[in-house]
Amino acid sequence: MSSTDATASTVNGGISFWYAQAGIPVPREPLTGDATADVVIVGGGYTGLWTAYYLKKAAPTLRIVVLEQRFCGYGASGRNGGWLYNGIAGRDRYARLHGREAAVRLQRAMNDTVAEVVRVAADEGVDAGIHPGGVLEVARTPAQLARLKAFHEHELAYGEDDRELYGARETAERIRVAGAVGSTWTPHGARLNPVQLVTWLADVVEGLGVTVHELTPVTEIRPRHAVTPYGTVRAPYVLRCTEGFTANLKGQRRTWLPMNSSMIATEPLTAEQWASIGWDGRETLGDMAHAYMYAQRTDDDRIALGGRGVPYRFGSRTDNDGRTQPATIEALHEILVGFFPSLTGVRVAHAWSGVLGVPRDWCATVTLDRSTGLGWAGGYVGSGVATANLAARTLRDLVQRDSGQGGETELTSLPWVNHRVRKWEPEPLRWAGVQGMYATYRTADRRETASLSAQSSRLARWADRVAGRH
Ligand SMILES: Cc1cc2nc3c(=O)[nH]c(=O)nc-3n(C[C@H](O)[C@H](O)[C@H](O)COP(=O)(O)OP(=O)(O)OC[C@H]3O[C@@H](n4cnc5c(N)ncnc54)[C@H](O)[C@@H]3O)c2cc1C
Repeated sequence: MSSTDATASTVNGGISFWYAQAGIPVPREPLTGDATADVVIVGGGYTGLWTAYYLKKAAPTLRIVVLEQRFCGYGASGRNGGWLYNGIAGRDRYARLHGREAAVRLQRAMNDTVAEVVRVAADEGVDAGIHPGGVLEVARTPAQLARLKAFHEHELAYGEDDRELYGARETAERIRVAGAVGSTWTPHGARLNPVQLVTWLADVVEGLGVTVHELTPVTEIRPRHAVTPYGTVRAPYVLRCTEGFTANLKGQRRTWLPMNSSMIATEPLTAEQWASIGWDGRETLGDMAHAYMYAQRTDDDRIALGGRGVPYRFGSRTDNDGRTQPATIEALHEILVGFFPSLTGVRVAHAWSGVLGVPRDWCATVTLDRSTGLGWAGGYVGSGVATANLAARTLRDLVQRDSGQGGETELTSLPWVNHRVRKWEPEPLRWAGVQGMYATYRTADRRETASLSAQSSRLARWADRVAGRH
Protein backbone atom coordinates (compact mmCIF):
# COMPACT_ATOMS: atom_id res chain seq x y z
CA MET A 1 0.00 0.00 0.00
CA SER A 2 1.45 3.40 -0.92
CA SER A 3 1.58 6.38 1.43
CA THR A 4 -1.25 7.98 -0.54
CA ASP A 5 -3.48 4.87 -0.19
CA ALA A 6 -2.85 4.71 3.56
CA THR A 7 -3.83 8.35 3.97
CA ALA A 8 -6.61 8.59 1.34
CA SER A 9 -9.42 8.41 3.92
CA THR A 10 -7.59 10.11 6.80
CA VAL A 11 -9.73 12.55 8.79
CA ASN A 12 -7.79 15.83 8.87
CA GLY A 13 -8.36 18.33 11.70
CA GLY A 14 -11.43 18.29 13.91
CA ILE A 15 -9.12 19.72 16.62
CA SER A 16 -7.46 16.31 17.24
CA PHE A 17 -7.91 12.55 17.18
CA TRP A 18 -8.39 12.68 20.97
CA TYR A 19 -11.42 14.93 20.49
CA ALA A 20 -12.75 12.74 17.67
CA GLN A 21 -12.74 9.93 20.21
CA ALA A 22 -14.16 11.90 23.13
CA GLY A 23 -16.48 14.25 21.24
CA ILE A 24 -16.14 18.05 21.15
CA PRO A 25 -17.50 19.38 24.47
CA VAL A 26 -20.52 21.66 24.69
CA PRO A 27 -18.97 25.02 25.63
CA ARG A 28 -19.58 26.66 29.00
CA GLU A 29 -21.30 30.06 29.14
CA PRO A 30 -19.31 33.09 27.97
CA LEU A 31 -18.72 36.14 30.13
CA THR A 32 -21.76 38.42 30.15
CA GLY A 33 -20.52 41.84 31.24
CA ASP A 34 -17.87 43.33 33.53
CA ALA A 35 -16.79 41.33 36.56
CA THR A 36 -14.24 41.35 39.37
CA ALA A 37 -12.12 38.56 40.82
CA ASP A 38 -9.03 38.00 42.95
CA VAL A 39 -7.22 36.20 40.12
CA VAL A 40 -8.11 36.07 36.45
CA ILE A 41 -6.52 33.39 34.32
CA VAL A 42 -6.46 33.75 30.53
CA GLY A 43 -6.41 30.38 28.75
CA GLY A 44 -7.98 27.06 29.66
CA GLY A 45 -5.17 24.62 28.90
CA TYR A 46 -3.04 22.68 31.38
CA THR A 47 -1.23 25.81 32.57
CA GLY A 48 -4.34 27.86 33.29
CA LEU A 49 -6.35 25.00 34.73
CA TRP A 50 -3.61 23.53 36.91
CA THR A 51 -2.97 27.07 38.21
CA ALA A 52 -6.64 27.45 39.09
CA TYR A 53 -6.57 23.99 40.71
CA TYR A 54 -3.58 24.62 42.97
CA LEU A 55 -4.58 28.18 43.88
CA LYS A 56 -8.07 27.10 44.83
CA LYS A 57 -6.74 24.15 46.84
CA ALA A 58 -4.37 26.50 48.70
CA ALA A 59 -6.93 29.27 49.26
CA PRO A 60 -10.51 28.00 48.84
CA THR A 61 -12.07 31.45 49.29
CA LEU A 62 -10.11 32.98 46.41
CA ARG A 63 -12.37 34.21 43.58
CA ILE A 64 -10.80 32.84 40.41
CA VAL A 65 -12.08 33.38 36.87
CA VAL A 66 -10.75 31.46 33.86
CA LEU A 67 -11.38 33.03 30.43
CA GLU A 68 -11.05 30.69 27.45
CA GLN A 69 -11.49 31.76 23.84
CA ARG A 70 -13.06 28.46 22.62
CA PHE A 71 -13.32 25.60 25.10
CA CYS A 72 -10.89 24.23 27.68
CA GLY A 73 -8.43 21.96 25.90
CA TYR A 74 -8.84 23.68 22.53
CA GLY A 75 -5.09 24.37 22.36
CA ALA A 76 -2.08 22.09 22.62
CA SER A 77 -3.44 20.55 25.83
CA GLY A 78 -6.14 18.82 23.77
CA ARG A 79 -3.90 17.89 20.85
CA ASN A 80 -0.54 16.71 22.17
CA GLY A 81 1.31 13.42 22.00
CA GLY A 82 0.56 12.52 25.61
CA TRP A 83 4.18 12.37 26.74
CA LEU A 84 4.09 13.32 30.40
CA TYR A 85 7.84 13.49 30.90
CA ASN A 86 10.61 15.28 32.72
CA GLY A 87 12.09 17.36 29.88
CA ILE A 88 12.11 21.14 30.28
CA ALA A 89 13.04 23.63 27.58
CA GLY A 90 16.05 25.76 28.47
CA ARG A 91 17.62 23.75 31.30
CA ASP A 92 21.14 23.94 29.85
CA ARG A 93 20.87 27.69 29.38
CA TYR A 94 19.64 28.02 32.97
CA ALA A 95 22.71 26.02 34.06
CA ARG A 96 24.93 28.54 32.26
CA LEU A 97 23.04 31.54 33.69
CA HIS A 98 22.48 30.35 37.29
CA GLY A 99 24.96 27.51 37.83
CA ARG A 100 24.64 23.76 37.61
CA GLU A 101 23.22 23.30 41.11
CA ALA A 102 20.22 25.50 40.24
CA ALA A 103 19.63 23.58 37.02
CA VAL A 104 19.87 20.26 38.85
CA ARG A 105 17.18 21.51 41.24
CA LEU A 106 15.04 22.41 38.23
CA GLN A 107 15.55 18.94 36.78
CA ARG A 108 14.67 17.28 40.11
CA ALA A 109 11.53 19.42 40.27
CA MET A 110 10.59 18.15 36.81
CA ASN A 111 11.18 14.53 37.83
CA ASP A 112 8.91 15.14 40.83
CA THR A 113 6.34 16.81 38.57
CA VAL A 114 5.80 13.64 36.55
CA ALA A 115 5.16 11.82 39.84
CA GLU A 116 2.91 14.67 41.04
CA VAL A 117 0.59 14.44 38.01
CA VAL A 118 0.39 10.65 38.32
CA ARG A 119 -0.29 11.01 42.07
CA VAL A 120 -3.01 13.69 41.73
CA ALA A 121 -4.73 11.70 38.98
CA ALA A 122 -4.73 8.60 41.18
CA ASP A 123 -5.87 10.49 44.31
CA GLU A 124 -8.66 12.23 42.42
CA GLY A 125 -9.72 9.01 40.70
CA VAL A 126 -9.13 10.21 37.13
CA ASP A 127 -7.88 7.61 34.67
CA ALA A 128 -6.61 9.83 31.77
CA GLY A 129 -5.09 6.74 30.18
CA ILE A 130 -1.99 7.15 32.34
CA HIS A 131 0.59 4.41 31.95
CA PRO A 132 3.89 5.11 33.73
CA GLY A 133 6.15 3.20 31.34
CA GLY A 134 8.92 5.81 31.11
CA VAL A 135 10.43 7.35 27.99
CA LEU A 136 12.45 5.42 25.40
CA GLU A 137 14.49 7.29 22.82
CA VAL A 138 16.07 5.31 20.00
CA ALA A 139 19.01 5.88 17.64
CA ARG A 140 18.87 4.60 14.06
CA THR A 141 22.11 5.88 12.50
CA PRO A 142 25.72 6.06 13.73
CA ALA A 143 25.42 9.85 14.18
CA GLN A 144 22.21 9.42 16.17
CA LEU A 145 23.90 6.76 18.31
CA ALA A 146 26.77 9.12 19.09
CA ARG A 147 24.25 11.82 20.04
CA LEU A 148 22.23 9.33 22.08
CA LYS A 149 25.27 8.34 24.15
CA ALA A 150 26.23 11.98 24.67
CA PHE A 151 22.63 12.81 25.63
CA HIS A 152 22.55 9.89 28.07
CA GLU A 153 25.76 11.08 29.78
CA HIS A 154 24.45 14.63 29.82
CA GLU A 155 21.26 13.57 31.60
CA LEU A 156 23.18 11.49 34.15
CA ALA A 157 25.12 14.64 35.00
CA TYR A 158 21.80 16.28 35.96
CA GLY A 159 21.30 13.62 38.59
CA GLU A 160 19.22 11.20 36.56
CA ASP A 161 21.07 8.16 37.85
CA ASP A 162 18.10 5.90 37.18
CA ARG A 163 18.40 6.42 33.38
CA GLU A 164 19.52 3.38 31.37
CA LEU A 165 21.40 2.90 28.12
CA TYR A 166 20.51 -0.06 25.88
CA GLY A 167 22.25 -1.67 22.92
CA ALA A 168 20.49 -2.91 19.79
CA ARG A 169 19.41 -6.23 21.32
CA GLU A 170 18.04 -4.79 24.57
CA THR A 171 16.20 -2.14 22.57
CA ALA A 172 14.60 -4.82 20.39
CA GLU A 173 13.47 -6.69 23.53
CA ARG A 174 11.34 -3.62 24.32
CA ILE A 175 10.34 -2.50 20.84
CA ARG A 176 11.34 -3.55 17.35
CA VAL A 177 12.14 -0.34 15.51
CA ALA A 178 13.77 -0.94 12.11
CA GLY A 179 17.46 -0.10 12.17
CA ALA A 180 17.53 0.76 15.90
CA VAL A 181 21.13 0.48 17.13
CA GLY A 182 20.56 1.66 20.70
CA SER A 183 18.28 3.56 23.03
CA THR A 184 18.12 5.40 26.33
CA TRP A 185 15.28 4.98 28.83
CA THR A 186 14.19 7.06 31.79
CA PRO A 187 11.50 6.04 34.27
CA HIS A 188 10.43 9.71 34.61
CA GLY A 189 7.70 9.58 32.03
CA ALA A 190 4.19 8.31 31.45
CA ARG A 191 1.85 8.00 28.52
CA LEU A 192 -1.54 9.66 28.86
CA ASN A 193 -4.65 10.68 26.94
CA PRO A 194 -4.36 14.50 26.71
CA VAL A 195 -8.07 15.23 26.35
CA GLN A 196 -9.09 13.03 29.26
CA LEU A 197 -6.65 14.98 31.44
CA VAL A 198 -7.72 18.46 30.34
CA THR A 199 -11.45 17.65 30.40
CA TRP A 200 -11.13 16.32 33.92
CA LEU A 201 -9.14 19.40 35.00
CA ALA A 202 -11.79 21.80 33.67
CA ASP A 203 -14.53 19.87 35.46
CA VAL A 204 -12.62 19.57 38.71
CA VAL A 205 -11.73 23.27 38.98
CA GLU A 206 -15.33 24.17 38.30
CA GLY A 207 -16.33 21.76 41.04
CA LEU A 208 -13.90 23.54 43.37
CA GLY A 209 -15.72 26.83 42.73
CA VAL A 210 -13.62 28.41 39.96
CA THR A 211 -15.70 30.34 37.38
CA VAL A 212 -14.87 29.15 33.86
CA HIS A 213 -16.10 31.20 30.90
CA GLU A 214 -15.64 29.66 27.47
CA LEU A 215 -16.21 31.28 24.03
CA THR A 216 -14.62 34.35 25.61
CA PRO A 217 -11.52 35.65 23.76
CA VAL A 218 -9.36 38.08 25.68
CA THR A 219 -8.22 40.80 23.30
CA GLU A 220 -5.94 42.71 25.64
CA ILE A 221 -4.28 42.16 28.99
CA ARG A 222 -3.39 45.24 31.05
CA PRO A 223 -2.39 45.49 34.71
CA ARG A 224 -5.46 44.38 36.69
CA HIS A 225 -7.61 44.05 33.54
CA ALA A 226 -8.49 41.26 31.10
CA VAL A 227 -10.47 42.82 28.26
CA THR A 228 -12.94 40.78 26.18
CA PRO A 229 -15.70 41.72 23.70
CA TYR A 230 -18.25 40.81 26.41
CA GLY A 231 -16.82 42.83 29.26
CA THR A 232 -13.67 43.34 31.32
CA VAL A 233 -12.65 41.27 34.30
CA ARG A 234 -10.73 43.27 36.91
CA ALA A 235 -8.43 41.49 39.36
CA PRO A 236 -5.20 42.24 41.24
CA TYR A 237 -3.59 39.31 39.39
CA VAL A 238 -3.98 38.60 35.68
CA LEU A 239 -2.21 35.44 34.56
CA ARG A 240 -1.54 34.85 30.87
CA CYS A 241 -1.57 31.12 30.04
CA THR A 242 -2.02 31.33 26.27
CA GLU A 243 1.16 29.56 24.99
CA GLY A 244 1.08 29.20 21.18
CA PHE A 245 -1.80 31.70 20.83
CA THR A 246 -0.02 34.51 22.67
CA ALA A 247 0.73 36.40 19.43
CA ASN A 248 -3.00 37.15 19.03
CA LEU A 249 -3.02 39.36 22.14
CA LYS A 250 -2.49 43.07 21.72
CA GLY A 251 1.21 43.91 22.05
CA GLN A 252 2.37 40.26 22.14
CA ARG A 253 2.87 39.47 18.45
CA ARG A 254 6.61 38.78 18.78
CA THR A 255 6.68 37.38 22.33
CA TRP A 256 6.44 33.63 21.65
CA LEU A 257 6.56 32.14 18.19
CA PRO A 258 3.68 29.73 17.45
CA MET A 259 5.45 26.59 16.22
CA ASN A 260 3.35 23.86 14.59
CA SER A 261 3.51 20.25 15.50
CA SER A 262 1.47 17.67 13.63
CA MET A 263 0.39 14.16 14.50
CA ILE A 264 -1.21 11.10 12.95
CA ALA A 265 -3.05 8.21 14.63
CA THR A 266 -3.35 4.82 12.97
CA GLU A 267 -6.36 2.58 13.10
CA PRO A 268 -6.12 0.11 16.02
CA LEU A 269 -3.44 -2.51 15.33
CA THR A 270 -4.15 -6.22 15.52
CA ALA A 271 -2.61 -8.58 18.08
CA GLU A 272 -0.36 -10.00 15.32
CA GLN A 273 0.83 -6.54 14.38
CA TRP A 274 1.63 -5.80 18.01
CA ALA A 275 3.43 -9.14 18.28
CA SER A 276 5.73 -8.03 15.44
CA ILE A 277 6.49 -4.73 17.19
CA GLY A 278 6.57 -5.54 20.91
CA TRP A 279 6.15 -2.26 22.87
CA ASP A 280 4.47 -4.08 25.76
CA GLY A 281 5.87 -1.51 28.22
CA ARG A 282 3.98 1.29 26.44
CA GLU A 283 6.91 3.65 26.90
CA THR A 284 6.58 6.95 25.10
CA LEU A 285 8.86 6.65 22.07
CA GLY A 286 11.15 9.23 20.48
CA ASP A 287 14.26 9.33 18.35
CA MET A 288 17.49 11.27 18.05
CA ALA A 289 16.94 12.78 14.57
CA HIS A 290 17.36 16.56 14.36
CA ALA A 291 13.77 16.82 13.05
CA TYR A 292 12.72 14.35 15.74
CA MET A 293 9.56 12.23 16.02
CA TYR A 294 7.54 11.32 19.11
CA ALA A 295 4.97 8.56 19.53
CA GLN A 296 2.83 6.63 21.94
CA ARG A 297 0.93 3.35 21.96
CA THR A 298 -2.57 4.53 22.79
CA ASP A 299 -4.95 3.05 25.30
CA ASP A 300 -6.94 1.52 22.43
CA ASP A 301 -3.83 0.08 20.73
CA ARG A 302 -3.15 2.54 17.96
CA ILE A 303 0.09 4.36 17.30
CA ALA A 304 -0.13 8.13 17.61
CA LEU A 305 2.99 9.70 16.11
CA GLY A 306 4.06 13.29 15.69
CA GLY A 307 6.72 15.44 14.11
CA ARG A 308 7.31 18.90 12.81
CA GLY A 309 5.73 19.10 9.30
CA VAL A 310 5.46 22.72 8.15
CA PRO A 311 6.95 24.35 11.24
CA TYR A 312 5.60 27.87 11.17
CA ARG A 313 3.00 29.95 9.34
CA PHE A 314 3.86 33.47 8.16
CA GLY A 315 2.82 36.27 10.55
CA SER A 316 2.46 33.95 13.58
CA ARG A 317 -0.84 32.58 12.25
CA THR A 318 -2.23 29.43 13.84
CA ASP A 319 -3.96 26.47 12.20
CA ASN A 320 -7.63 26.13 11.36
CA ASP A 321 -9.04 23.82 14.08
CA GLY A 322 -6.16 21.39 13.77
CA ARG A 323 -5.99 20.83 10.02
CA THR A 324 -2.53 19.96 8.78
CA GLN A 325 -1.00 19.87 5.30
CA PRO A 326 -1.45 16.67 3.21
CA ALA A 327 2.33 16.62 2.64
CA THR A 328 2.85 16.54 6.41
CA ILE A 329 0.48 13.56 6.77
CA GLU A 330 2.46 11.68 4.15
CA ALA A 331 5.76 12.61 5.76
CA LEU A 332 4.56 11.31 9.15
CA HIS A 333 3.24 8.13 7.52
CA GLU A 334 6.67 7.59 5.97
CA ILE A 335 8.27 7.91 9.40
CA LEU A 336 5.75 5.39 10.76
CA VAL A 337 6.53 2.74 8.12
CA GLY A 338 10.25 3.56 8.32
CA PHE A 339 10.11 2.69 12.01
CA PHE A 340 7.73 -0.26 11.61
CA PRO A 341 7.89 -1.66 8.04
CA SER A 342 5.29 -4.33 8.95
CA LEU A 343 2.70 -1.52 9.20
CA THR A 344 2.98 -0.55 5.52
CA GLY A 345 -0.68 -1.43 4.88
CA VAL A 346 -2.06 0.19 8.01
CA ARG A 347 -4.47 3.06 7.45
CA VAL A 348 -3.92 6.45 9.05
CA ALA A 349 -7.24 7.18 10.73
CA HIS A 350 -6.67 10.79 11.77
CA ALA A 351 -4.22 13.67 11.33
CA TRP A 352 -4.11 16.99 13.12
CA SER A 353 -1.84 19.80 14.25
CA GLY A 354 -1.47 22.35 17.03
CA VAL A 355 0.82 25.13 18.16
CA LEU A 356 3.54 25.29 20.79
CA GLY A 357 4.98 28.50 22.22
CA VAL A 358 8.65 29.15 21.44
CA PRO A 359 10.50 32.04 23.12
CA ARG A 360 13.47 33.64 21.35
CA ASP A 361 15.96 31.78 23.59
CA TRP A 362 13.92 28.51 23.69
CA CYS A 363 13.65 28.70 27.50
CA ALA A 364 10.38 27.98 29.34
CA THR A 365 9.54 30.59 31.98
CA VAL A 366 7.15 31.36 34.80
CA THR A 367 6.88 34.96 35.90
CA LEU A 368 4.92 37.24 38.20
CA ASP A 369 5.62 40.94 37.87
CA ARG A 370 5.06 42.28 41.38
CA SER A 371 4.59 45.87 40.28
CA THR A 372 1.73 45.13 37.87
CA GLY A 373 0.26 41.85 39.10
CA LEU A 374 0.72 40.45 35.59
CA GLY A 375 1.94 36.89 35.42
CA TRP A 376 2.56 34.34 32.72
CA ALA A 377 3.92 30.86 32.19
CA GLY A 378 4.85 28.98 29.07
CA GLY A 379 7.30 28.94 26.19
CA TYR A 380 7.55 25.21 26.86
CA VAL A 381 8.48 24.48 23.23
CA GLY A 382 7.57 20.77 22.84
CA SER A 383 7.52 19.70 26.46
CA GLY A 384 4.63 21.31 28.29
CA VAL A 385 2.51 18.41 29.49
CA ALA A 386 4.45 18.04 32.73
CA THR A 387 6.08 21.49 32.74
CA ALA A 388 2.66 23.20 32.84
CA ASN A 389 2.01 21.51 36.18
CA LEU A 390 5.30 22.74 37.65
CA ALA A 391 4.56 26.22 36.25
CA ALA A 392 1.11 26.18 37.85
CA ARG A 393 2.38 25.24 41.30
CA THR A 394 5.02 27.95 40.92
CA LEU A 395 2.44 30.58 39.90
CA ARG A 396 0.43 29.56 42.97
CA ASP A 397 3.47 30.15 45.20
CA LEU A 398 4.30 33.47 43.51
CA VAL A 399 0.73 34.77 43.92
CA GLN A 400 0.61 33.53 47.52
CA ARG A 401 3.93 35.20 48.30
CA ASP A 402 2.98 38.46 46.64
CA SER A 403 -0.36 38.64 48.41
CA GLY A 404 1.24 37.97 51.80
CA GLN A 405 -0.23 34.47 52.11
CA GLY A 406 3.09 32.69 51.74
CA GLY A 407 6.82 33.16 51.54
CA GLU A 408 9.72 32.06 49.40
CA THR A 409 9.44 28.37 48.51
CA GLU A 410 11.63 25.82 46.77
CA LEU A 411 9.59 26.46 43.61
CA THR A 412 9.88 30.26 43.66
CA SER A 413 13.67 29.94 43.82
CA LEU A 414 14.00 27.80 40.68
CA PRO A 415 16.10 29.40 37.94
CA TRP A 416 13.31 29.68 35.35
CA VAL A 417 11.30 32.04 37.60
CA ASN A 418 11.10 35.62 36.33
CA HIS A 419 13.40 34.95 33.38
CA ARG A 420 13.06 37.60 30.65
CA VAL A 421 14.06 37.33 27.00
CA ARG A 422 14.01 39.56 23.96
CA LYS A 423 11.27 39.36 21.33
CA TRP A 424 11.42 37.53 17.99
CA GLU A 425 12.46 39.40 14.86
CA PRO A 426 9.73 41.03 12.76
CA GLU A 427 8.51 39.31 9.56
CA PRO A 428 9.72 38.22 7.07
CA LEU A 429 12.87 37.43 9.08
CA ARG A 430 10.93 35.33 11.60
CA TRP A 431 9.36 33.17 8.88
CA ALA A 432 12.54 32.78 6.86
CA GLY A 433 14.57 31.89 9.96
CA VAL A 434 12.27 29.11 11.17
CA GLN A 435 11.68 27.62 7.69
CA GLY A 436 15.43 27.67 7.09
CA MET A 437 16.18 26.04 10.43
CA TYR A 438 13.85 23.07 9.87
CA ALA A 439 14.88 22.62 6.23
CA THR A 440 18.45 22.46 7.51
CA TYR A 441 17.55 19.85 10.15
CA ARG A 442 15.91 17.66 7.51
CA THR A 443 18.95 17.96 5.23
CA ALA A 444 21.23 17.13 8.18
CA ASP A 445 19.15 14.00 8.95
CA ARG A 446 19.31 12.87 5.30
CA ARG A 447 23.08 13.41 5.16
CA GLU A 448 23.65 11.50 8.38
CA THR A 449 21.56 8.56 7.11
CA ALA A 450 23.40 8.52 3.76
CA SER A 451 26.94 8.92 5.12
CA LEU A 452 26.69 6.46 8.04
CA SER A 453 29.29 8.62 9.80
CA ALA A 454 29.17 8.90 13.59
CA GLN A 455 29.72 12.66 13.29
CA SER A 456 26.65 14.85 13.80
CA SER A 457 26.12 17.02 10.74
CA ARG A 458 27.68 20.47 11.14
CA LEU A 459 24.61 21.88 9.39
CA ALA A 460 22.41 21.04 12.38
CA ARG A 461 24.79 22.67 14.84
CA TRP A 462 24.82 25.77 12.63
CA ALA A 463 20.99 25.83 12.53
CA ASP A 464 20.87 25.51 16.34
CA ARG A 465 23.18 28.48 16.74
CA VAL A 466 21.34 30.67 14.26
CA ALA A 467 18.02 29.84 15.94
CA GLY A 468 19.40 30.76 19.36
CA ARG A 469 18.76 27.24 20.72
CA HIS A 470 22.21 26.82 22.31
C1 LIG B 1 0.77 18.36 18.32
C2 LIG B 1 1.42 18.63 19.66
C3 LIG B 1 2.04 17.58 20.34
C4 LIG B 1 2.62 17.82 21.59
N1 LIG B 1 3.12 16.76 22.29
C5 LIG B 1 3.61 16.95 23.54
C6 LIG B 1 4.01 15.84 24.32
O1 LIG B 1 3.83 14.69 23.95
N2 LIG B 1 4.55 16.10 25.56
C7 LIG B 1 4.73 17.36 26.02
O2 LIG B 1 5.26 17.53 27.12
N3 LIG B 1 4.29 18.43 25.31
C8 LIG B 1 3.73 18.25 24.10
N4 LIG B 1 3.24 19.30 23.40
C9 LIG B 1 3.23 20.62 24.05
C10 LIG B 1 2.14 20.69 25.11
O3 LIG B 1 0.94 20.15 24.63
C11 LIG B 1 1.93 22.13 25.54
O4 LIG B 1 3.16 22.66 25.96
C12 LIG B 1 0.95 22.30 26.66
O5 LIG B 1 -0.27 21.67 26.38
C13 LIG B 1 0.76 23.80 26.91
O6 LIG B 1 -0.35 24.00 27.76
P1 LIG B 1 -0.89 25.48 27.91
O7 LIG B 1 -2.05 25.41 28.80
O8 LIG B 1 0.23 26.36 28.32
O9 LIG B 1 -1.28 25.92 26.44
P2 LIG B 1 -2.55 25.47 25.56
O10 LIG B 1 -2.94 24.09 25.82
O11 LIG B 1 -2.24 25.85 24.16
O12 LIG B 1 -3.71 26.36 26.14
C14 LIG B 1 -3.83 27.72 25.88
C15 LIG B 1 -5.31 28.02 25.93
O13 LIG B 1 -5.49 29.40 25.91
C16 LIG B 1 -6.57 29.71 25.08
N5 LIG B 1 -6.35 31.07 24.63
C17 LIG B 1 -5.33 31.51 23.88
N6 LIG B 1 -5.42 32.84 23.66
C18 LIG B 1 -6.52 33.23 24.31
C19 LIG B 1 -7.16 34.49 24.46
N7 LIG B 1 -6.66 35.59 23.89
N8 LIG B 1 -8.29 34.56 25.19
C20 LIG B 1 -8.80 33.47 25.80
N9 LIG B 1 -8.25 32.26 25.66
C21 LIG B 1 -7.12 32.13 24.94
C22 LIG B 1 -6.50 28.69 23.97
O14 LIG B 1 -7.73 28.51 23.30
C23 LIG B 1 -6.05 27.45 24.72
O15 LIG B 1 -7.13 26.67 25.17
C24 LIG B 1 2.64 19.12 22.15
C25 LIG B 1 2.02 20.17 21.47
C26 LIG B 1 1.41 19.93 20.23
C27 LIG B 1 0.76 21.06 19.51
